[in-house]
Amino acid sequence: MTREVEPVINDHWTRAEFPHELVPGIAELGIAGLAYDGPGCPARGALVGGMVAMELSRVDPSIGTFMGVHGGLAMGSIHLCGSDEQRERWLPAMARMELIGAFGLTEPEIGSAISQGLATTARRDGDEWVLNGAKKWIGNAAFADLVVIWARDEDDGQVKGFVVEKGTEGIEFTKQEDKIALRVVQNAEIALTDCRVPEANRLQRAESFGDTSNVLRVTRMDVAWQAVGCARGAFEHALRYTKARQQFGRSIAGFQLVQDLLVKMLTHVSSTTAMNVRASQLQDAGLLKDEHASLCKVHSTTSMRETVGWAREVLGGNGILLEHHVGRFVADAEAIYSYEGTREINTLIVGRAITGESAFV
Ligand SMILES: Cc1cc2nc3c(=O)[nH]c(=O)nc-3n(C[C@H](O)[C@H](O)[C@H](O)COP(=O)(O)OP(=O)(O)OC[C@H]3O[C@@H](n4cnc5c(N)ncnc54)[C@H](O)[C@@H]3O)c2cc1C
Repeated sequence: MTREVEPVINDHWTRAEFPHELVPGIAELGIAGLAYDGPGCPARGALVGGMVAMELSRVDPSIGTFMGVHGGLAMGSIHLCGSDEQRERWLPAMARMELIGAFGLTEPEIGSAISQGLATTARRDGDEWVLNGAKKWIGNAAFADLVVIWARDEDDGQVKGFVVEKGTEGIEFTKQEDKIALRVVQNAEIALTDCRVPEANRLQRAESFGDTSNVLRVTRMDVAWQAVGCARGAFEHALRYTKARQQFGRSIAGFQLVQDLLVKMLTHVSSTTAMNVRASQLQDAGLLKDEHASLCKVHSTTSMRETVGWAREVLGGNGILLEHHVGRFVADAEAIYSYEGTREINTLIVGRAITGESAFV
């Protein structure tokens, strides 16, 4: 990441373009679907998967997000919700990154309330399903080889997952322009108009939104780790900068008020790392609950947001220049803060768990 990604990423960020030329190098690392033990997957477990997610985002949160969507959400949907045959069909090629995946859950009018209000429909027609509706914010979708689309079965009202492959008729992608965060990630709006997919592409073990939630619980931990990476990257750039920058005839790292900010950053990075290590250990032991992942996401992202702000502060004016990297982390943190469940929604999940009272509506 430091050698190949860091030198080129600001340029891609400015142009809002994805560095496709870096994909073969990332593929060689063998980190797609790292935690999963499905066909062709590395089966390295949640803790290693989380730490690698941190390391990617520590250099660039956009690449961290690209891998989170492909190796986490898309591969996770197939791994956790697909039949054995479907896992064999897609996972090995996705692990080799010959096929890139996307995950289509959020809709233009339904974000946080997706578990209740998902409006995209699926109608069974013989051996096929007919999908209609719209999706928004779908990472990688603009160039993905397959997109997992979550839609509500018109017959039984349950949410089901469908793998829609590139070139399928009735699905259209429109790249979302002018983002101020994660500009390298190619998010797209999706329009589904009588889009026909075979029954063989319906994820056979996705029977309700509860199965979608099983995927999100796992990937929410990855996002908590991405937040630690984003904070850690900003902290490390800030520490280096303060040692090099001179004011009043000495390095600014020697000023007490600057050290105060550096130590507050390190406190956040350390506490969120420790918390996520424990939760990933619980995940590896099969004990992770929704509220654990949500608590990690809340704490890691709120800490990240403060940390990147302090990092920018100690860089002074240079903090808003891309060439010093911290400005990119400040911007990208805003997206990590909101996706995979906002602070409010994850707080409500934890609140429900500790009080026994749901405060969602
Ligand atoms: C860069 C980026 C990448 C993304 N990638 C994907 C992807 O690959 N696939 C995908 O499916 N989705 C993706 N998303 C969507 C993301 O998951 C949603 O943005 C997120 O779930 C929030 O939904 P929303 O933006 O519609 O906000 P809204 O749901 O409209 O929320 C707006 C505000 O209202 C608050 N709010 C809502 N309900 C409550 C409540 N009950 N109590 C208190 N406050 C509440 C929220 O917390 C938030 O502050 C991505 C988003 C971004 C920004």
